[in-house]
Amino acid sequence: MKIFISLIFCLLTIIKSEAFTILIDPGHGGEDDGAKVLSHGKNPEVMIKEKDIALMIAEKIHELLLAKNYTVFLTRSMDRTVSLPERAAIAEKTKADLFISVHINSSPESSAVGFETYYLDNHNEVAIKKVEKTENIQMKGDEVVVQQILVDLVVEQTVSTSKPLAQRIHSEIKNSVGRKYGISSRGVKPGLFYVLALSKRPGVLLEVGFISTQKERVRMMNPDFQQDYAKAVVNGIEKFIQSRKMTKIKKHHRK
Ligand SMILES: [Zn+2]
Repeated sequence: MKIFISLIFCLLTIIKSEAFTILIDPGHGGEDDGAKVLSHGKNPEVMIKEKDIALMIAEKIHELLLAKNYTVFLTRSMDRTVSLPERAAIAEKTKADLFISVHINSSPESSAVGFETYYLDNHNEVAIKKVEKTENIQMKGDEVVVQQILVDLVVEQTVSTSKPLAQRIHSEIKNSVGRKYGISSRGVKPGLFYVLALSKRPGVLLEVGFISTQKERVRMMNPDFQQDYAKAVVNGIEKFIQSRKMTKIKKHHRK
């Protein structure tokens, strides 16, 4: 009987600790368009904006996770301005375990292609360079200095979770979307993104593809592609959660 009770207790602890809350963060919104490009060949010409594509993909990830009974939230569900500290406040309020930020890349080179997945880390030259880009545009000079201390602390606390999460999600994207559409992987990379630092929890920032490259822009606006990409992200999240469960069970058995 004692063994039985302790087994039940053990199972309950495992189930409780695995109730992941996931926060999906569509980049930019409202006054902040993110990257944008005037689409030629259309009459009239339209401005294609990162904030719109990011929201469409984020909504699909949100729906798929809801269908699988996860507790999941969006930082915005419409075209509205949400500051980086507001996004962080939502992460606190929802007690999110994982933070998934969705963005669309841009490059001055019109031939830039591929998807990349970032996790927060500042111990890398490449990561520092990425700071100046669109994703941190809301941060002013003084704030950046103050936030350096926070970044160090958050990296220390999250990198051992964020990196494997990024790897799982990225390899799912690579194996499904990458193969199906013949898109190259730009890899899993460390990056200094303030939205990840301020949220203070394990998370990744996805750069789906290049809005500045016509072929990728057209593809990313296709609902079928968006759905395929969202599915890959969800599969990656699930595989990550599964791997954490296995680690916990293994640790438990060793006791
Ligand atoms: Zn962005």
